[in-house]
Amino acid sequence: MYPRIIFDGEKLIQNYKNIENKLKDKKIDLALVTKVICADPNIIKIFEENGAKLFADARLDNILKMKKNGIKGKFMLLRIPMISELEKVIENVDYVLISELKTLKKLGEISSSKNKKIKVIYMIDLGDLREGVWYKTSLNELIRASKVKGITLEGIGTNLGCFGGILPDENNMKEIVLIKNKFEKNTGIKLNLISGGATANLPLVEKNKLPIEINNLRIGEAIFCGTDVTNNRKVPGAVQDAITLEAEIVEIKDKPSIPVGNIGLDAFGRKPTFEDKGIRKKCIIAVGEQDIDPKGLKPKDKSIQVLHSSSDHTILDITNCEKEYDIGDIISFEMSYSCTLKASTSEYVKKIYNKPNK
Ligand SMILES: *Cc1c(COP(=O)(O)O)cnc(C)c1O
Repeated sequence: MYPRIIFDGEKLIQNYKNIENKLKDKKIDLALVTKVICADPNIIKIFEENGAKLFADARLDNILKMKKNGIKGKFMLLRIPMISELEKVIENVDYVLISELKTLKKLGEISSSKNKKIKVIYMIDLGDLREGVWYKTSLNELIRASKVKGITLEGIGTNLGCFGGILPDENNMKEIVLIKNKFEKNTGIKLNLISGGATANLPLVEKNKLPIEINNLRIGEAIFCGTDVTNNRKVPGAVQDAITLEAEIVEIKDKPSIPVGNIGLDAFGRKPTFEDKGIRKKCIIAVGEQDIDPKGLKPKDKSIQVLHSSSDHTILDITNCEKEYDIGDIISFEMSYSCTLKASTSEYVKKIYNKPNK
């Protein structure tokens, strides 16, 4: 049945070990970020068997899914929680990222009533403009956070590269260390965990430029996709085809490269643009925007060009292909992070799990 994604357990573990070794050398703990594959327990089990102990996800539902399926380890909630989910957070999560005192106080109240302490990582915004207290005024808020009853302020963290595309660098990483030091000096409380970021921090690790105070990174993309979209690179030593997509050809026809008639907007309200290359050989594969991000589809046959998708169809230009494709043939793709996320999420895409060899 197609479309389907194929998880290559051997390659996933190869990527995991690659990152784990890079971090182990620097005494940085690895939180495996599971959201891009919707924390699929069939896959997470493979990581667990290969030594993963800390699992991080943005969605509480994904954490619950892992726990229900017997994954053992510690769990970190990445998306700052909704007040309405705090009860469940306390029952199921070991580390929680927080950026609001109001949420923290509520968390403390519920924790106390349940006699359960949860470890909090307070988030600092170092300039990317997603979650976190603005770095310049963070000290005051951190001090207030440390006084909230019922919780343990385990550390501080930051997230870069996600909204503003801001790259982690020596300056912003030094800034978080500065905040840690100021806080500790001011309060006498030690922050055990300094979570410096995600895949985009790896170049600093490789170049030995991440401050030693940073002892945790939360990594997803580098392990599942082998890429680092923020730094626009492939991660050294990681492979990009641990997860692949297969889709089936349902039509092959020679057609013009420019549509005929007055051009309005496409199915998603976008204005399509076209280059006149004359008559081209094109095929339709049975997969669409509901399942993939066409911009993130990378055909293994390099002479295929992905043209466009609507909800359920994707159109490919196969004019330059050496292979004679036929109706019913299967086309294979590597995928970007966003495409992997969509394909994992789509219930119309079958999942095939290939276990590691050992
Ligand atoms: C998604 C996410 C990560 C993981 O990012 P990658 O680029 O996939 O390594 C880390 N931290 C937070 C807060 C996230 O939401």
